[in-house]
Amino acid sequence: MKIYEQIYVNGKWIEPHGREYADVTNASTEDVIGRVPLGNATDAEHAVRAARTAFDGWSGTSPQQRSEWLAKIAQGLEARGAEVAQLISAEVGTPIAWSQFAQTGAAVAHFGVAAQLLGTYDFSETVGNSEVQREPIGVVACITPWNYPLTLIAAKVAPALAAGCTVVLKPSEVAPLTAYLLAEVIDEAGLPPGVFNLVPGYGPVVGEALVSHPEVDMVSFTGSTGAGRRVSELGSRTIKRVALELGGKSAALVLDDADFATAVPGAIQACYLNNGQTCFAHTRMLVPKARMEEVKRIAAQVVGGMKVGNPFDEQNQIGPVISAVQQQRVQDYIRKGLEEGAELVVGGPDAPAGLERGFFVKPTVFANVTPQMTIAREEIFGPVLSILGYEDEEDAVRIANDSIYGLSGAVWSADVERAKRVARRLRTGQVDINGAPFNLLAPFGGYKQSGNGREFGKYGLEEYLEYKAVQLPVQ
Ligand code: NAP
Repeated sequence: MKIYEQIYVNGKWIEPHGREYADVTNASTEDVIGRVPLGNATDAEHAVRAARTAFDGWSGTSPQQRSEWLAKIAQGLEARGAEVAQLISAEVGTPIAWSQFAQTGAAVAHFGVAAQLLGTYDFSETVGNSEVQREPIGVVACITPWNYPLTLIAAKVAPALAAGCTVVLKPSEVAPLTAYLLAEVIDEAGLPPGVFNLVPGYGPVVGEALVSHPEVDMVSFTGSTGAGRRVSELGSRTIKRVALELGGKSAALVLDDADFATAVPGAIQACYLNNGQTCFAHTRMLVPKARMEEVKRIAAQVVGGMKVGNPFDEQNQIGPVISAVQQQRVQDYIRKGLEEGAELVVGGPDAPAGLERGFFVKPTVFANVTPQMTIAREEIFGPVLSILGYEDEEDAVRIANDSIYGLSGAVWSADVERAKRVARRLRTGQVDINGAPFNLLAPFGGYKQSGNGREFGKYGLEEYLEYKAVQLPVQ
């Protein structure tokens, strides 16, 4: 049991002003496994003041010094990697192997990448008679969701600190335990007081206090499009920079020349990552109408054979979703799919047999989904795949782009040049060709209502920098 009673402000663990607590639940057993305090607006205020006071000193450190601190944080997290993976598999339900890779390894990597970048990144260049300098934007509020709780924190905090910014982090109170672990690692690394602050609490309370605060220069937000819209509105009142990483309904286009025996299982895998609770999940599969029956057969075999259960058992590919609320939401979407006439290939709205306890959902596939159906348009955030048929390549591109979202996607084809041509036509921030792996150095972020701004690698670092042009006298 992880019981936390304090928040981390100005380099100290202190009692919060907020008097409430949130229990953290094991998604597979429904047992309470932890508790964190919920800060309030006064706690947010104190953290922002600490970050503001620390800014002058931290922004004046050299890239080399910051690199050493970030490398120390990466090492500290790596040393506790097994604990991170265990905590996240318990609170989120992530299958343990994916937890070790994507929840733990990626979080360590973001700090490592930031440390390395500082060795090579040029913070100034000369343009005519100007020296163009890149300077840290100031105090940054980082607001993060529960699905990849530590990786998404690391994707913000590491580059923000690397840039020379100071940070107030508000994690999701649904999966907050590794935010505390990170604060412990940062405390041990000995960062100057106020450079990193942790204030858990509800979005509308602590989140909105941070977003509205005039001394916060930038908000980096990852979460749902609805909450992102509110953050954007509030941030605009003080003309903050607001970076938004929001929802998605990404499409995998299986072109007619693809090897279906590889492409269909590959696209399925990219849908069910983290039990479908992945913003860039490929939740729509677009296939030639004439080959729908063949695709249904492959999908039924692959998904029907998936083992659902305890995420700590490596035999299981699918764990629970995070909470009863999320379970209900996902099952409601499955019912909606049935009501609207989609063809159920495998799965369904009831809990999987023998898994009545825990927030389990049957991995579900719908075929002959039309672009107007709710399950083709809205982000479900659970293990549900919608297969849509297209007439030809033109139609496939049109359907893929017919979404308010534009976060990710895929093209599967025997011809990589053809796949690249199609990829260029997709209005989305990322496209994977033939199951190519995720790249932590490539820019990550969305078109349209999937957000604005980019994270990861040097693109992530640059989010936290301002330009300053210093004109020099011409000789
Ligand atoms: P969420 O409900 O939008 O919450 C995200 C964070 O925002 C939480 O810390 C939440 O706090 C806070 N928040 C909520 N309302 C707020 C407000 N009015 N002002 C300030 N902060 C507020 O999202 P979620 O359910 O945790 O995460 C799932 C969503 O995140 C999905 O839509 C997914 O696609 C998206 N996501 C996007 C990316 C990406 O990189 N594009 C990555 C991962 C997830 P509370 O929890 O206390 O409400």
